[in-house]
Amino acid sequence: MYKAKNKKTNEVIEADELKVINNVSSIDFVCVDDKCAIPLIACSFQETNKKRPYFKKHSNQEHTDSCSYSEYLKLLEVGKTRRLTDLEFEKLDYPSKLVFSLPKVKDTLTLTSELLPDSNSTAKKTISNGEFAEVANANRRVTSISQIVDFYLSCPFNRDVELDLLGVKMSYKFHFKRIYGENTGAYIDNKIFYGRVSLNSIDSEVSDENYLYLKLFECEDWERNNSLTSNNKQINPYFLKINKEEISKYKINRILKEKETVSNLSKNDYRINKKHGREAWVFFIGRKPSLKNLYEFEVVNGFITFRYTIVQPIKAD
Ligand SMILES: [Zn+2]
Repeated sequence: MYKAKNKKTNEVIEADELKVINNVSSIDFVCVDDKCAIPLIACSFQETNKKRPYFKKHSNQEHTDSCSYSEYLKLLEVGKTRRLTDLEFEKLDYPSKLVFSLPKVKDTLTLTSELLPDSNSTAKKTISNGEFAEVANANRRVTSISQIVDFYLSCPFNRDVELDLLGVKMSYKFHFKRIYGENTGAYIDNKIFYGRVSLNSIDSEVSDENYLYLKLFECEDWERNNSLTSNNKQINPYFLKINKEEISKYKINRILKEKETVSNLSKNDYRINKKHGREAWVFFIGRKPSLKNLYEFEVVNGFITFRYTIVQPIKAD
């Protein structure tokens, strides 16, 4: 699983954060469902680990029958193979709303952070303060695009469900836009754009005082040469521009680590011939390129995440 709670602080931790947290081994992680809360183990977060970080349970322990998070993960697995029914959807706390930050949690809760990194799920459900409806709704709110991307990738049959992306409501499928080939002016602001990252370790990241630039594999075209030995060159590769003043150093490090993880996975599988169609992808909310810089997107508010995966097309029943 890709999220857990810090038992002491009640803070939700995304697995992708593990590589930039210093004292991982001294933290007690538990399941995010407070009624379940079984201990979880952080895995694959060391510098040398090749896989994406994740959490696992001890082999001699199971989630409780009512654990909503483990139920959610099971349904995501089903969603890979067929359309989930309305009934299943009622049980499914899929991320339906992206907000900049969650409202302050009131008195009785001891959450330490105002800006929760993730959907502050079942903690609030159990509180009987007469605001159940409002609170239950908050369950589906998230403050990063990570879970939104996981849902999109896992459930290709259900991309018609609604997603409120920073106030704009439409189906999941209309929020996502692939970056590909020549920029013909069809990109629109504030979509969740995605494309393959450049695996060239020499120039795939450039940083100046204000911005971090990430290069994509996607480009206008490839310069074809007839030599069999030298690699083809990109014509107008796409770049993502990240404003370093907009987000913390911690977040910048996390972004670079995530990118490194997917790049390494891709290169490694390529070496041993095991890619099976998977690629290193980046997903981000972006502003479309300006007329001056036709191949440069600006990432909005650090909303960016990476996956080494296959992006399935939308599937019908
Ligand atoms: Zn659980």
